[in-house]
Amino acid sequence: MKTLPRLKFAHLPTPVEAMPRLSAALGGPALLVKRDDQTGLALGGNKTRKLEFLMAEAQANGAHTVITAGAIQSNHCRQTAAAAARFGLGCILVLVGDPPAAASGNLLLDGLLGAEIVWTTRPQRDQALKETFDKAWEQGRRPYLVPYGGSNTTGAAGYVVAMQELIEQGARPDWIVFPSSSGGTQAGLVVGARVFGYSGKILGISVDEPETVLCQRVAALATAAADFLGEPVAFSDAEILVNASYLGGGYGVMGDAEREAITLFARNEGILLDPVYTGRAAAGLIDLIRTGYFKHSETVLFWHTGGAPALFADRYRETLG
Ligand SMILES: *Cc1c(COP(=O)(O)O)cnc(C)c1O
Repeated sequence: MKTLPRLKFAHLPTPVEAMPRLSAALGGPALLVKRDDQTGLALGGNKTRKLEFLMAEAQANGAHTVITAGAIQSNHCRQTAAAAARFGLGCILVLVGDPPAAASGNLLLDGLLGAEIVWTTRPQRDQALKETFDKAWEQGRRPYLVPYGGSNTTGAAGYVVAMQELIEQGARPDWIVFPSSSGGTQAGLVVGARVFGYSGKILGISVDEPETVLCQRVAALATAAADFLGEPVAFSDAEILVNASYLGGGYGVMGDAEREAITLFARNEGILLDPVYTGRAAAGLIDLIRTGYFKHSETVLFWHTGGAPALFADRYRETLG
C-alpha cells in the first residue's frame, strides 16, 4: 500500500475492551468495543483518524486556513477546529442552523477552539461553503477544503490503517458494527479488510440515509480509496453491508431507542455514547441482538466512533438523565 503523508497526533492504538456486563444484560453474543471515542483530539472521535491524513494534505498544499461544513452539533467540525488549532491554521466552519442564544455541546467547543462560524441553511449549504472558500481565497488566506465528514479518499485512509491496527491488536471479531453516514469510516474499513485480510462482516448502521444510497456511496468511495492507495480493487454495492432500519425520527432526533441504548452502555459498562450516531447504532445493535440476528457463539465488536460532547447540547441534555 502506498504511504501517504500523515501527521500523527491521534492517541493510537485505541483500546479494544470487552463488554461482559452489557453482553450478559442482553443475553447476547460476546461484545467488544473499539474505543475511537478516545482518539485524544479535543474529546476524540472517528474524524481524528481521517484528519491525520487530511491535515497532512492541507499542510503539503501550503494551507493557512481549513474550511469545512456540518450540522450545528457536528463532531467533525469540532475535531477539525481542534486539529487546525494544533497546527496553527485558521478554521472556518459553515454550520447549518440558526445561531443559538447560548452555545452548548460541540458548538461551545468550536468557539473555544477559535473557529469562525458562518451560518447557513440546508438548501444553501453547498453554495455557502463555496462562497466562504472563494472569499477566503480572495483574502489571501490560502484555504483548504475538508470534505463533509472528512469523507474523501484521503480521509478514508484513516480507517484503512485503523483496520490494520485492529488486526495487529489480535482482535478477530465475527462482526464489526458502527454508525455510518458520510461513509468514510465504512469505506476505509472495507478497504482495510481487503488489504490486510479481515474476513468478518462489516455492518454499518445507517444514521440518516436509505440503504441503497449508503451502499452506493460506500462502494464508490471504497473503490476510489483503494485505487488512491495503489491497491486497485473494485467494490460492488452488493458487498457493502448497511442496515437502515433504525433511522427513527431522522438525523439528530433522539428517540426512545437511542435513549435506551445510551443508558444501557452507561449503566453496564460506564461508556458514554452520543445521541446522534453511536446511540442510534447501538440501538440497532441491541435490537439485532434481541431478535437473534447474531449467533450466540459469535463475537461482535462495536466500533465506538465518539460524539459524546453532544450529550451536553441543550437540545439533548434536557431529555437525558
Ligand atoms: C461522523 C460520525 C460518524 C459517521 O462516520 P462517517 O465516516 O461519516 O460515516 C459516526 N459517529 C460519529 C460520532 C461521528 O461524528
